Amino acid sequence: MEYPKLEIDLDKIKHNVEVVVGLCKENHIQVAGVTKVFCGHPKIARAYVDGGVSFLADSRIENLMKLKDFNIPKMMIRLPMISEAEKVVEYADISLNSEIETIKALSEKALEKGKVHQIILMVDLGDLREGYYYERDLYSSIEEILKLEGVKLLGIGTNLTCYGGVIPDEENLGRLIEIAGNIEERYPVELEIISGGNSSSLHLLLDDNNIEGINKLRLGESLVLGVETAYGERIEDTYDDAFQLIAEIVEIKEKPSMPTGEIGRDAFGETPIFVDYGIRKRMICAIGKQDIEFDTMLPVDEGISILGGSSDHLILDGTDSKTDYKVGDIIRFKLNYGGILRAMTSEYVKKDIK
Ligand SMILES: *Cc1c(COP(=O)(O)O)cnc(C)c1O
Repeated sequence: MEYPKLEIDLDKIKHNVEVVVGLCKENHIQVAGVTKVFCGHPKIARAYVDGGVSFLADSRIENLMKLKDFNIPKMMIRLPMISEAEKVVEYADISLNSEIETIKALSEKALEKGKVHQIILMVDLGDLREGYYYERDLYSSIEEILKLEGVKLLGIGTNLTCYGGVIPDEENLGRLIEIAGNIEERYPVELEIISGGNSSSLHLLLDDNNIEGINKLRLGESLVLGVETAYGERIEDTYDDAFQLIAEIVEIKEKPSMPTGEIGRDAFGETPIFVDYGIRKRMICAIGKQDIEFDTMLPVDEGISILGGSSDHLILDGTDSKTDYKVGDIIRFKLNYGGILRAMTSEYVKKDIK
């Protein structure tokens, strides 16, 4: 086997999806499985579909293109670029939008292909990333959309806890539901989808809050790591280690914990600070910042701690481990969301899908 590698357990992912989809179903909510963290890998997306997601969603058109053979509605969840409008209507059935110029471009390209592209308009409820902040702007876009023949207004949605860290609650999601009601009152439309955010909205379901009216969530992190992301609480009966990073040891030596000589800058221009712990058993793994950020990984062996590293080397302290590691042995790490994203994206990390 070649290292470093990312080991991906599809049964664990499918199990997580089943648990979360079940929780959502109890609340009359359908799940769009967000595939961006694993770059839209079709085998992993298959585990999402087998686990019961109703849509596949990604922020990058390249990833949606990999998913073209799935016979389930696909959603583009980053605001489309006008320059990619043609691909968006080709590879996505639905897209999240907030700019009428883009929607016009989508309509035009959809008409050229004899399609009708479905639009979810994003409402900014205070997190200050994408979406209409003022209701009047939302209404003037809707008036334009109703004149376009290549697009259909499918619903509205929001995204929270991304830029501003705003936590979804009954009040802000209540406002989304209220706005949907206002739209249906003012215009001859029926909104099929009220998309109430991402994995940070799940805490409302776990705590039995009333968000009746929300009928879709777009979920990524909660499916791959079994966690709600508003407070970081684990979802019962899920796995946090469906993705494990494995690296090989290339050096093990007893060395002092303090460098010798005058301290300048490290490989990344930072001035490091050291504490003297005496002589320690140090292990170097053949993996580095070109593959991963070290603060996104956690050794499965609790006796190991991460000291640091550079582009291609990771330095571990193995003094407290009960295992007598040898050069050539492997070390396993759990990853957080950012770590999975980075490891999936690095071409140097082999993907081992089980
Ligand atoms: C990434 C993303 C999601 C999924 O977020 P998670 O926290 O991984 O559930 C949902 N919606 C949009 C618009 C996104 O960009």
